[in-house]
Amino acid sequence: VADVAVVWAQAGEEHGGIRGFVVPTDTPGFSAPLIKHKLSLRASVTSELVLDGVRLPADAVLPEVRGLKGPLSCLNEARYGIAWGALGAARSSLDAARRYSMERVQFGRPIAAFQLTQQKLADMALEYTKGLLLALHLGRRKDAGTLRPEQVSLGKLNNIRESLEICRTARTILGANGISLEYPVIRHMNNLESVLTYEGTVEMHTLVIGQALTGESAFR
Ligand SMILES: Cc1cc2nc3c(=O)[nH]c(=O)nc-3n(C[C@H](O)[C@H](O)[C@H](O)COP(=O)(O)OP(=O)(O)OC[C@H]3O[C@@H](n4cnc5c(N)ncnc54)[C@H](O)[C@@H]3O)c2cc1C
Repeated sequence: VADVAVVWAQAGEEHGGIRGFVVPTDTPGFSAPLIKHKLSLRASVTSELVLDGVRLPADAVLPEVRGLKGPLSCLNEARYGIAWGALGAARSSLDAARRYSMERVQFGRPIAAFQLTQQKLADMALEYTKGLLLALHLGRRKDAGTLRPEQVSLGKLNNIRESLEICRTARTILGANGISLEYPVIRHMNNLESVLTYEGTVEMHTLVIGQALTGESAFR
């Protein structure tokens, strides 16, 4: 749907390594075939970017940006946002499960009155609150200009992992209704499966944190 694609590409060391290009999507050789059959983030269009013999004027390259720093600075912003966004899905799922547990009656009592259900709700609230405090702390560091990429990795990795777990647990409280789109839980859960992968996979953020802790790069 975009008129312009921003493409980060390896231009070779003699041209500054990774460079950013502004590519009008009507440029001959550019196409963006739709990725079909998604079971996650179904409401948004996701496309493959194909560049087949695309030629651009010299001023299509983003000046002054050389190497991984450019794309990583953009990603850092998005990844910080995801540390918050994932929690929104978790909060909605926790709330749906809590309400459901107070209405659904089994063996003469609302399922909220069973200890096992309360343990699930308490654990979900615990992880949600910890994630929220982490995001808040990162936000304060961001405001102060002291936020480092490996700290963003902590936030993205923890909050997506725990939010997905919260959705999965919430889905169990809903029983069979947990798989229905009548409730928001499975939609959030499936959408978070994309978030687990994009803006840096769980594995990549783990390696970022590992490198910060040890000084050793284990990426390859
Ligand atoms: C809905 C959706 C929207 C997206 N939107 C965008 C977008 O707008 N822009 C964009 O650029 N990308 C986008 N992506 C792509 C996303 O960033 C990539 O899918 C992601 O970076 C993983 O790359 P890959 O799929 O090629 O997996 P691969 O690189 O093939 O990795 C597969 C698995 O191997 C692991 N792995 C790979 N290398 C290593 C290693 N060295 N050590 C340990 N484990 C490793 C990965 O962590 C992963 O678990 C989107 C993806 C989805 C699902």
